[in-house]
Amino acid sequence: MNRRAFIRASLISSTALAIPAFAQSRATKNVGHVMTVNGFLDASEMGMTLTHEHLFADLRSFEEQRRQTLELDVDEIIEVVLPHLERARSLGCRTLIDCTATHLGRSPALLRRLSAASGLNVLTVTGSYLAANGHFVPDYAKAETVDQLARRWIGEWQGGIEDTGVRPGLIKLGMNGGPLTSLEEKVFRAAVETHRETGLTIGTHIGPWGEPEPGFCGASASQMLAVLEKAQVSPSAWIWFHAQNEKDPSHHVRAAKIGAWVSFDGLSPETLAEHIELVKRLRTHELLNRVLVSHDAGWYTAGEPRGGNFRTFDTVFTEFIPALRTAGFKEDEITQLFVRNPAEAFAIRKRTT
Ligand SMILES: [Zn+2]
Repeated sequence: MNRRAFIRASLISSTALAIPAFAQSRATKNVGHVMTVNGFLDASEMGMTLTHEHLFADLRSFEEQRRQTLELDVDEIIEVVLPHLERARSLGCRTLIDCTATHLGRSPALLRRLSAASGLNVLTVTGSYLAANGHFVPDYAKAETVDQLARRWIGEWQGGIEDTGVRPGLIKLGMNGGPLTSLEEKVFRAAVETHRETGLTIGTHIGPWGEPEPGFCGASASQMLAVLEKAQVSPSAWIWFHAQNEKDPSHHVRAAKIGAWVSFDGLSPETLAEHIELVKRLRTHELLNRVLVSHDAGWYTAGEPRGGNFRTFDTVFTEFIPALRTAGFKEDEITQLFVRNPAEAFAIRKRTT
């Protein structure tokens, strides 16, 4: 081993030594189970978890997707994606929630292969995505009733997605922000009904294309929380994804105070300082036990050469956790953010009030 190789090796091993504090921590027992692409997993076994990421996406409109199925080179997708998962695992990650919504390229069979190859636990979703100006809305979401949509999603929970046998671990929705449209409200009520029957957590993307005004995403969030209350479902059954899109932080505090999960995803080196501030604010309110942080990164995009530009899952490990330490966060608080909170947020439990 030459000097440079020795230095590199010792750097790698010192990074490895820095991992165990949170990577080897386990959530307290009896949290319940989560549903991975390989079946039930005790939530206390999830370990360090990235709660909102993407591995593969097909971003063509629902119409285009229906017209033409893409010929995909699955081996190439795996060749591109797997090194990023192996890297995340080497940094301490043990579980990754793939939040790719239905009709945006959700691929249960591919996720199962990537999970097996990487050794990471991976979760996939059921539900419907209405954001992005309706680009991905399937006809059935418009046509079906609350009950029919709920039956469709409960069917995936009971019998698996399509013919894969893979069961969803989350009800993923997408909303534009602002006052809920009647379609958004219907779909949300279907998700609440699905939760009441399955115990699956509901996670809602809230955000339009472009920069929303302060209060715009929060308005949507408040309305969804009101629907939960009316249905006598606890706010803790609901995750507000992309809460960082809401620039008036009083909305985060209000949602977290009543028990909702506030997810500051979209972390990148450029947003590091902003993310630290968002998390610090909720800590000041003693609401760190309602916060999730992730990158919303990835992914192999269908139809682009070698899937296009892949954003890695590194920042949490290489920059965010060190920055939390510098900001005075204790190891136990870091474990809370990345181990205990994800276990509680995704545990399958009927959370009726
Ligand atoms: Zn996302």
